[in-house]
Amino acid sequence: MTGLTPGATIGILGGGQLGRMLAMAAAQLGYRTHVYCPDTEFPASQVTDRVTRAAYEDRETLQAFAESVDVITYEFENIPVETVGWLAEDVDVFPDARVLEVSQDRLQEKAFINALGIATAPYEGVGSADEAVDALKTIGYPAVLKTRRFGYDGKGQAIVRSEGDVKAAWKSLGSDKNIVEGFVNFDMEISVIVARGRTGEVKSFLPAENIHTNHILDVSICPARIDQGLLDEAVALAEKIVAELNYVGVLAVELFVSPDEPRLRVNEIAPRVHNSGHWSIEACPTSQFEQHIRAICGLPLGDTRLYGQAVMKNLIGDDILELEHLLADSEANVHHYGKLKARPGRKMGHVTRLYPFDHKVDV
Ligand code: AMP
Repeated sequence: MTGLTPGATIGILGGGQLGRMLAMAAAQLGYRTHVYCPDTEFPASQVTDRVTRAAYEDRETLQAFAESVDVITYEFENIPVETVGWLAEDVDVFPDARVLEVSQDRLQEKAFINALGIATAPYEGVGSADEAVDALKTIGYPAVLKTRRFGYDGKGQAIVRSEGDVKAAWKSLGSDKNIVEGFVNFDMEISVIVARGRTGEVKSFLPAENIHTNHILDVSICPARIDQGLLDEAVALAEKIVAELNYVGVLAVELFVSPDEPRLRVNEIAPRVHNSGHWSIEACPTSQFEQHIRAICGLPLGDTRLYGQAVMKNLIGDDILELEHLLADSEANVHHYGKLKARPGRKMGHVTRLYPFDHKVDV
C-alpha cells in the first residue's frame, strides 16, 4: 500500500469544527489524530485520540507534538508561519509554509494570483490614509479597504465610497499595513474546493454558489447556478493554482462571477478545508475532509462526483435552537459542532439537503 499505513497519527493544528470534521474523516480511514490547540474547550477535542493544549509559539511543546505524529496539517490559516517552519524540521507539514505565507497576506496572495494570469480585483498595497487616497485615484470608487493580514468573515475591512470616507475607514481598521481593492460588480460568489495529492494528482469538486448574510457564509448551493463554461473555467483556474504551488491537501478558491469581462476574478484562497464545501459530506462519494486526509497521507484521491443538487445551510448563533425541528425533517442531514454556548455570529452547526439536479432552489 502507498501512503501512511492505517494506525498512523495525523497531527492537526487548530481544534474548531474543521479540525473536528477532519479528525472524524481520519478515523473513518483508520488513522489516529492528535489535535494541538491553545483553547481549553474546543469542538475537535470530543472526537480525537489526543489533545495538546498549548500556544503556537511554545517551541518545546511543538517539538513533542511533532515527535508524536506521522504528518501534520492545519485547519485554519492564521497559524504563525514560523510555527509551521519549526514543525517541518521534524515531520512533513501539508500544506507547506510557503503556501501559508502567501495566503496570510492579501497583497502577496493577489500578486501571486495575477502572476498566473488570473484576474483579481484591481488592488494596491498602502501604508497610510494618504497613500490610499492616491491609489484610489487610479482604482476609483467605490472600493474596499482591507487589512493585509488576519481578516475573516468581513472583519478588518471597510467600504469607501468617496475620498471623504478614507480617513475614517483607515482608522476603523486599526492597522497600517492595508490594501485597497476596487469594488467588483458581481452577480454571484462561488468557490472551488480542489485537492492535490502527494504524487501531483489533482481533483476538484464542482463549484458551489455562496450566499453571505452579515459577511458570514449562510448558504452554499452546489453546483453553482452558472453556465457549464464558467463552471469549467473556475475549476481550471483552481487547478492551475494548486499545480503552481506544488500544493498538497485541499485548497478553497473563492471567486466573484461578474456580468462583464473578466467574468471570473479570484477573491481569496484558503489553504484548508472550507465551510463552502461541507455539502460534500453527503453529496459526494468522498467528502472534502476525507479528500484532505487522503492527500496529506499520500493515498489516491477519491471520487468527487455529485449525487444531486446540494444545499448547505449554516446554523449560526440561535439557529441551533431549531435542532429539534431539524431532526424531525427527513431531508435534513444535521451536523452539530458540540459547542455548548451559542453566540451571535458563532457557527454552531450546519444542515445539508440533497435534491434532484433539476430542483429549483428557493434562495
Ligand atoms: P473577504 O474577507 O475578502 O472574503 O471579503 C468578504 C466579503 O466582502 C466577500 O465575500 C464579498 O462579499 C465582499 N467583498 C470583498 N472584497 C470585495 C471586492 N473587492 N468587491 C466587492 N465585494 C467584495
